[in-house]
Amino acid sequence: MISIILPVYNEEKQIYVNVQRIRSILLGAKIKHQLIIIDDGSTDGSWSELQRLAEDFNNVLLLKFSRNFGKEAALCAGLETATGDACVILDADLQHPPEYIPEMIRLWRDEGYEVVEGIKATRGRETMWGKIAALTYYRLFNKATGINLTNASDFKLLDQKVVETWKTLKEKDTFFRGMSAWLGYKRIQIPFPVQERREGKSKWSLPSLFKLAIDSITSFSAMPLQIITGLGIGLLLFDVVLVGQTLYMKFSGQAFTGFTTVIILILGIGSCVMISLGIIGIYISKIYDEVKGRPRYIISEQKKSVLKTIRRKI
Ligand code: UDP
Ligand code: MG
Repeated sequence: MISIILPVYNEEKQIYVNVQRIRSILLGAKIKHQLIIIDDGSTDGSWSELQRLAEDFNNVLLLKFSRNFGKEAALCAGLETATGDACVILDADLQHPPEYIPEMIRLWRDEGYEVVEGIKATRGRETMWGKIAALTYYRLFNKATGINLTNASDFKLLDQKVVETWKTLKEKDTFFRGMSAWLGYKRIQIPFPVQERREGKSKWSLPSLFKLAIDSITSFSAMPLQIITGLGIGLLLFDVVLVGQTLYMKFSGQAFTGFTTVIILILGIGSCVMISLGIIGIYISKIYDEVKGRPRYIISEQKKSVLKTIRRKI
């Protein structure tokens, strides 16, 4: 039995038909499944659409968050609730084509892969700047962590064993794509073309993507701290040269000509110190968040299909 996990945030216009499409593909391929749909605090009519789904179809489990906790939290809730022999995660806007699910399942069941990863073969509609930003981010992430996430997506199949291991990772601030790559296991990548969104807009804005980039790198690597240490050492060497020059100027009677150097140094060192403090601050705030130990999400409501309850594995 396969658990299909769908995070939903304000998708009222398309969620019903999208789930119908997923179901017909799964039924067509005779795949026994449960659908776990997480409403990540939608403010539109998504929850009532989801309830309609649970009334119309069997094997649907709905979880409703008390507010918007973000897609990462929704994925956590899905994985923690899933009882299938494998979990498939895909976006509810179907930018991840569900037609690939049967092939993913075949690779898992027949060829023994424990993780099947969807890799973006084309990136869909995106601006040139978006593409450049994504490429730069992948390069940086790879350099800092040694994990290659180029064109990775959240469209994945995970064996139950992998999900169990994933559950033992205790961090509250999760980055699913990175964590699942970090776990290892026997994996295979399948390229898929990213589909166009039929309804609504992407929830990502440039600032939120920038935040995710900083967050994910600092969650996975201490390299930014090493970089600022290196910067400090570089500045110290520069300093030694300047001290020599300043002393020389003083003893040769030209001490007043150093005004430009002083301004450059004050501004340069000032900004280096500020950036370094900012980076250290990010790590401290992460520690603070982890130490508080708050839950990753709060479920305010749950609903199951009335037609037939989900058969749990014993
Ligand atoms: N999503 C979510 N919580 C959020 C934002 C998004 O659960 O806070 C869901 C959204 O409903 C969709 C998926 O995550 O199913 C991907 O979101 P989106 O399409 O906005 O991102 P993109 O495809 O642009 O990466
Ligand atoms: Mg999308």
